[in-house]
Amino acid sequence: MRLDLGQRVAQRVDLLSVGIKGKQVGLDGAARFHRCRLWRDSGGCNFTKSGRGEVFRGALKKRPQDEATGAEIDQLDRERQKALELVKEINQRELLNTLTDAGLIPNYAFPEAGVELKSLLWRKRGSDDPDTAAYISLPAERYERPAQSALSEFAPENVFYANQRRVEIDQINMTLSSLESWRLCPTCQHMENLEIQADSRAACPRCGDPMWANIAQKRSLLRFRQAIANSNDTEVRIDDSAEDREPKFYVRQLLADFEPEKVVEAWRLKARDLPFGFEFIEQVQFRDINFGEPTKPGEAYNVAGQQRSRPGFKLCRHCGQIQRAPRNARERDAGQLHAFDCEKRGTNDVENLIDCLYLYREFSSEALRILVPYTRSGVDEEAVQSFMAAVQLGLKKRFGGKVDHLRMLTQQEAGKDGAPGRQYVLLYDSVPGGTGYLHQLLANEAQTLVDVLRLALSHLSACACNADPEKDGCYRCVYQYRLGRAMASVSRDRARSILEHLVAGLDHLEKVPTVAEIYINPNFDSELEARFIEALRRLGGEAGLPFVKLVQDIVHGKSGYLLQVGEQQYWVEPQVDLGPTDGVIVPCRPDFMLWPVQSRSKRRPIAVFCDGWAYHHDTARVDAKKRNALVMSGKYWVWSATWEDVKTALDGSVETALAGMLEPMYYGGQETLSPPLRAMIDERFVSRNAVAVLIDWLGKPVGEALDEHSLRMARSAGATAFRMVPNPRVPELADARDELAKFWLNVGALPCDRPEKYVPCGNITQPEVRLRYLWPALLAGGSANGMPEKSPGFVILDDAFAHDEPARHLAWRRWLALFNHFQLLPGIMLATQDGLEAADHASLSMPASSNPASSSQGAALAAAWEQVLDQAMSELTPSLMDVVGAGVPPPDEVGFEYADPKNADTIIAEAELAWCAKKLVLLLPAHTNYQAVWKAHGWTSVVAEGEWTQRLISEIKEGTTA
Ligand SMILES: [Zn+2]
Ligand SMILES: [Zn+2]
Ligand SMILES: [Zn+2]
Repeated sequence: MRLDLGQRVAQRVDLLSVGIKGKQVGLDGAARFHRCRLWRDSGGCNFTKSGRGEVFRGALKKRPQDEATGAEIDQLDRERQKALELVKEINQRELLNTLTDAGLIPNYAFPEAGVELKSLLWRKRGSDDPDTAAYISLPAERYERPAQSALSEFAPENVFYANQRRVEIDQINMTLSSLESWRLCPTCQHMENLEIQADSRAACPRCGDPMWANIAQKRSLLRFRQAIANSNDTEVRIDDSAEDREPKFYVRQLLADFEPEKVVEAWRLKARDLPFGFEFIEQVQFRDINFGEPTKPGEAYNVAGQQRSRPGFKLCRHCGQIQRAPRNARERDAGQLHAFDCEKRGTNDVENLIDCLYLYREFSSEALRILVPYTRSGVDEEAVQSFMAAVQLGLKKRFGGKVDHLRMLTQQEAGKDGAPGRQYVLLYDSVPGGTGYLHQLLANEAQTLVDVLRLALSHLSACACNADPEKDGCYRCVYQYRLGRAMASVSRDRARSILEHLVAGLDHLEKVPTVAEIYINPNFDSELEARFIEALRRLGGEAGLPFVKLVQDIVHGKSGYLLQVGEQQYWVEPQVDLGPTDGVIVPCRPDFMLWPVQSRSKRRPIAVFCDGWAYHHDTARVDAKKRNALVMSGKYWVWSATWEDVKTALDGSVETALAGMLEPMYYGGQETLSPPLRAMIDERFVSRNAVAVLIDWLGKPVGEALDEHSLRMARSAGATAFRMVPNPRVPELADARDELAKFWLNVGALPCDRPEKYVPCGNITQPEVRLRYLWPALLAGGSANGMPEKSPGFVILDDAFAHDEPARHLAWRRWLALFNHFQLLPGIMLATQDGLEAADHASLSMPASSNPASSSQGAALAAAWEQVLDQAMSELTPSLMDVVGAGVPPPDEVGFEYADPKNADTIIAEAELAWCAKKLVLLLPAHTNYQAVWKAHGWTSVVAEGEWTQRLISEIKEGTTA
């Protein structure tokens, strides 16, 4: 006969009152001796001896000895055992833990306590068991787990396999910690314990979200200490028929919350074109919450920006018995489930239950918060996960296994005032309180962290998995088992691209109060780039423009496009680094490089810059230097496309609001031009937006000897500039002539000579954007077949004359648009007024001859020269560029000292560069006196004076000297 314990006992509630009933006694002080007191009040038990059992048994034994009474006695025995365990528990708990639990001392001072599962088993008495009780309690089994895993493993209704048993968690110890009300921010990771902090705020104190005060954000939480599984031993033994171990899933969130003043050190990149930074936070409060099983019915709402279903757990607020769904008719009839010792046992008052309880753990530690770099490809899940994996890799490479205690979590923050949202990676110390490791990363001006990022990049780039085109990462580099499902978003290539963007800037860090203030521009260029590509596509075929076809393709190992405009083809390569070895003296990274597909095309590759105003208004001077370095190399053109250009092009329009911008800059009408000059002008170059003019150019066939369309554009620019020559026969223009002439007195060294015959030209009105150009007389004839004569000129942006933001923005757009056009006149540079005053152009030089760069030009050679350029005297750099451009091999030695062949200790001559096999040296002017010595020893020397580069090139090319 099967004993139905629940039913029997429910019928005899009154009996239980013998043992259990008593008034609730308040807790005295720290520890929760609630039950202990209760028991003591009801009979003065001695917890350390077994005498207490006699009290119950005595009471029950007076009653008729029927089966039910016997069962009850047994059950009470079991409950008693439970109570004894609890007492033991309290007695064993370390004093510090007890005090911490009671909130008397802050918990961050001590390691996080684990969570315990207490498995209580009973079984029916066998015929050979002694004693008369129908049930026998087995000694309680205890299992402890780190709180992190216990929060799921020991969660209600989960099953736990141990000691050949499969037990189900059906009770939560509600006495080891008290029930708390919390408010959880729907937007950020802040939450407040309303038992401590009055619930009176109208909005989240961290992020300001007024939804904070919403009723849905106030919840019941319990700090998880102990779970209990009550089971009939015979039913839970695992045999061969045991069902599959199906893990349960819970909605969990780890929230990291800190006071802003806990940020003790923060850094950001100085370079404003890459929002990146990190900060050390000395104390972060971590709260890990189990919001219940997502499959159960429950309310979905936002916590820390995540809309999830959060059903929580339903249990008795007194005994902690889980109110699971009834599993049979009897359970359904019985209603609420309560422990035997629950004062509410047998009642079905809804007030007994907590419908939605969340379990949490809490610890505090130190953390390093890193803003995921907002690179041009934007920040998405792949960027965040890949960046995180890269940081992990870097840490592993830098510290080996010593950093296993460092963990990561992500934090996102909604963008304010239209700015994009921010993504943070929070690297934290899982050893509560922290080990000091993280702060060390910022020691020595944050160089350790910089090292970590650099190491990650070098390992990513060198990992063997790069050789397999199918692989985008492996366990040697970015993959980790720990990442779990997130691993699907991890990309080695993406991580590399992010780090590549980053490393250049890492040399220049600056301290800031917090990374939270790093500005991320709403018009960030990455979006503009994507739109630029779309604009090319959209505008092709419109208004007489050639058709445009774009096919995604791999260009130099990066994902780019094959662009077809009319009959012409180009590789579109995003984010190309150009520098001295490419003939570009200022390192730069155009957003796109358009390489003509046809090798030896006479068309120069075009470096496209997609510039948003909000982002570039304070970098104009640097932007100008980069563009000049590109154009002056004689190998590249530049092309600037702004938001306005792209926006208009996306609408399918070729127009631009800047169409009339040149008119006020002229002194006379078009009729003042001679017929040949008038014929050169093509208004479309200035009346259309930058995307349209570019498509037009790209679609034009390239000539045999030169890019004929670029010549047409140059001539149009030349004729246009002529309208800014003040007519010498007009007396009213005397002041203008004076001003233009004076300009050239103070400009310092120029990258090219003035032409033989010239006339200064430029605008006097609208001084915020000025053209200053020495108009070469040869242009006037209009008959030149080659490119126009070199002559210096500037397109200058002068903020001092633009008085408000819209005026500055407009001036900036005009400045870039004018340079798109005027760069075709050799010698014209882009400048800001301050850059001009600082003579930024003095380091530029124009090569004697210009050859379009080709994308696959001797990379190895270039790399070898790079080191030379690095080490050689910097004043040689511009001229050495010509030498590099000639495609000659680099020297064997930089800073070469020649020892006396008879006495190795005596240096008899020095040279800046030496080609040893050729017995050729380059001497600095200061070393001219060594010329005789070199000659005497059979060496050829070239002194870096006058027109030395051509001499040097021909000497190197000559082959081995005799
Ligand atoms: Zn908030
Ligand atoms: Zn209960
Ligand atoms: Zn790999």
